[in-house]
Amino acid sequence: MQNYDVIVLGAGINGCGIAEKLVSNGKQVLLLDKSGVGQGTSSKSSRLIHGGLRYLETGQLHLVYESLHDRQRLVEKYPDLVAYKRFFLPIYKSSPRPGWMIRIGLWLYDVLSGSRLAGRSRKENKEDFLARFKAFCREDLRSVLSYVDAKTHDRELTRRVADDFQDLGGRVIVHCEIEKLEWTDSSFIMQSSAGGFSAPVLVNATGPWMDEVNEKFNLPAKFQIRKVSGIHLIFEGLIVPELMFMQTREKRIFFIIPEPENDQTIIGTTEREENCLMEDVHAQEEDIQYLLDQVNAYLKTEHQFLREDVRDIYIGVRPLVRRIGELSDVSREYKLDLHTKGETRLLHVFGGKLTTYLSLAENVAKVLGK
Ligand SMILES: Cc1cc2nc3c(=O)[nH]c(=O)nc-3n(C[C@H](O)[C@H](O)[C@H](O)COP(=O)(O)OP(=O)(O)OC[C@H]3O[C@@H](n4cnc5c(N)ncnc54)[C@H](O)[C@@H]3O)c2cc1C
Repeated sequence: MQNYDVIVLGAGINGCGIAEKLVSNGKQVLLLDKSGVGQGTSSKSSRLIHGGLRYLETGQLHLVYESLHDRQRLVEKYPDLVAYKRFFLPIYKSSPRPGWMIRIGLWLYDVLSGSRLAGRSRKENKEDFLARFKAFCREDLRSVLSYVDAKTHDRELTRRVADDFQDLGGRVIVHCEIEKLEWTDSSFIMQSSAGGFSAPVLVNATGPWMDEVNEKFNLPAKFQIRKVSGIHLIFEGLIVPELMFMQTREKRIFFIIPEPENDQTIIGTTEREENCLMEDVHAQEEDIQYLLDQVNAYLKTEHQFLREDVRDIYIGVRPLVRRIGELSDVSREYKLDLHTKGETRLLHVFGGKLTTYLSLAENVAKVLGK
């Protein structure tokens, strides 16, 4: 049996971030994953490090503020992996939100960001936009705005955090299946495909697998996960020269994300409530067609996409938080759920975006204290 101060379950961005924070505080930490580092939701996102412009509409100012500050810290910490980019936001006659409302939202976003480095939102010249974004329709285009957010590569960022954790002396074991978990007054005792481990503190950072893990090992929890999947479509080549924030008529949003480094463009995402086990979550043809229809609505006929133009599709599941017995989300903010028994502590991490992993990890370290 190998003993540690803390065992962290799940090597997604949150598990890796927490493990790195705890090892830098001098703890002996073991990070376990049943598949690989960043193989879960942390490699299926829109790859944005952002405040979440749309959360302003629902008044989640704290979430936006925290995310924008984490964004700044990540740009400074990993300049080769997280970079500021300008996002273009064309407003057509069919736009569900008037231009003035979006301008106020962007102004507030700039204020909350507080960063001079990022650059400010602004009004773009319509003719310049049409000249550069050649596939877009001129008809009914009212104005074009732009703002700044950051872009990353989610899996590479997660792997970098895991590497930093190992450089600080932490241990990662992947493809590790936990066979048995016993919780006594003095420690968690685990039998796994990689051997036996024990620690007085267990952090459960299994993201959308959380409920399945809690049920399997009979662990108590105050919250549950609401699994909401989202797909992204990948197209060959650079469809647009800059990143785009687009609105659908039904007030939903989607992004068009050119990736010059991979000579591809990503379009996403969708939202679908999933009530099955994680292994049964698959991309639905209906969602693929939905995204194609949404983007085609803005494009000239000769530039519209067909199903066969889609080179690849990926699907991820958002681990949103809900209180047990309630159907709606608590909010898009994460929740830390602490349970104690004798000398031991169990901490579940519910929710948490890629963008906010730094503050989440710091809060976990505070909750666990010494
Ligand atoms: C479509 C979509 C788009 C998104 N876009 C963005 C975005 O642009 N920006 C942003 O900030 N956020 C975005 N998010 C949210 C973000 O990606 C997730 O909230 C975040 O990646 C969750 O990380 P996590 O570490 O909690 O979970 P995960 O990355 O899913 O990690 C959980 C890990 O637990 C492991 N695991 C499961 N069961 C076990 C077990 N029994 N034993 C050991 N290990 C186990 C899994 O293998 C997995 O590696 C998006 C999410 C989705 C779905």
